[in-house]
Amino acid sequence: MLKVSDINVYYGNIHAIKDISFEVAKGEIVSLIGANGAGKSTILKTVSGLLRTKTGNITFLDGDIRTAAPNHIVKLGLAHVPEGRRIFLQMTVQENLEMGAYTQKPAALSADLENVYERFPRLRERRRQVAGTLSGGEQQMLAMGRALMSHPTLLMLDEPSMGLAPILVEQIFDIIQELHRAGTTILLVEQNAQMALSIADRAYVLETGRIVMNGTAKEMREDERVQKAYLGM
Ligand code: ATP
Repeated sequence: MLKVSDINVYYGNIHAIKDISFEVAKGEIVSLIGANGAGKSTILKTVSGLLRTKTGNITFLDGDIRTAAPNHIVKLGLAHVPEGRRIFLQMTVQENLEMGAYTQKPAALSADLENVYERFPRLRERRRQVAGTLSGGEQQMLAMGRALMSHPTLLMLDEPSMGLAPILVEQIFDIIQELHRAGTTILLVEQNAQMALSIADRAYVLETGRIVMNGTAKEMREDERVQKAYLGM
């Protein structure tokens, strides 16, 4: 579904992503794990067209998206829930969701809202509330709901567990699994390797801009280096 081949991404002179290749097949949950600054967010931003790669290729559903505009990439069915949620804090919950529908036909809006509210009853209760007053977990739900408004077939989530209490992390991960069961393919970026490996099919480990290991989630969980560096064992 998504194929990233030999990409190199720079911030000015900083070589942030070095010859990275990975794939996500339809129906998978694939996780990118790694420490702070390893380059995980940079990869997602590059796939969604917010940053450009100097070399290499990125294809989605067999089409070249390396130079495609971000809104076109969303239209193709690839949505990105950024790190730190990036919701519109001054707008209401419903207005935020409506912003996520900008690539869709207006006639579909109420059905799409209903669909998101069914999945996130909490957002329905708070639909007229200003988003800045939501709790961290609710803001994460809103960011995910907003992405779902574009009908993604591949959903990229950047650190959905960030800043959340353990019980909320569990809830968010349950929702990710529900979305997956409903047919959405997931690319999950996490520092919380424990949680990520508990739901992923496969994982790639990133260190300073390079992929240093990859395999099934089970292989990663059983790998001594992964256990030491990322699972606190
Ligand atoms: P985090 O979880 O902290 O976001 P990450 O694995 O997602 O970590 P990135 O944010 O992708 O890492 O950062 C990768 C590298 O690129 C880091 O060395 C970082 O300092 C650098 N970097 C990120 N954004 C910028 C920027 N806007 N300008 C310059 N360097 C940047």
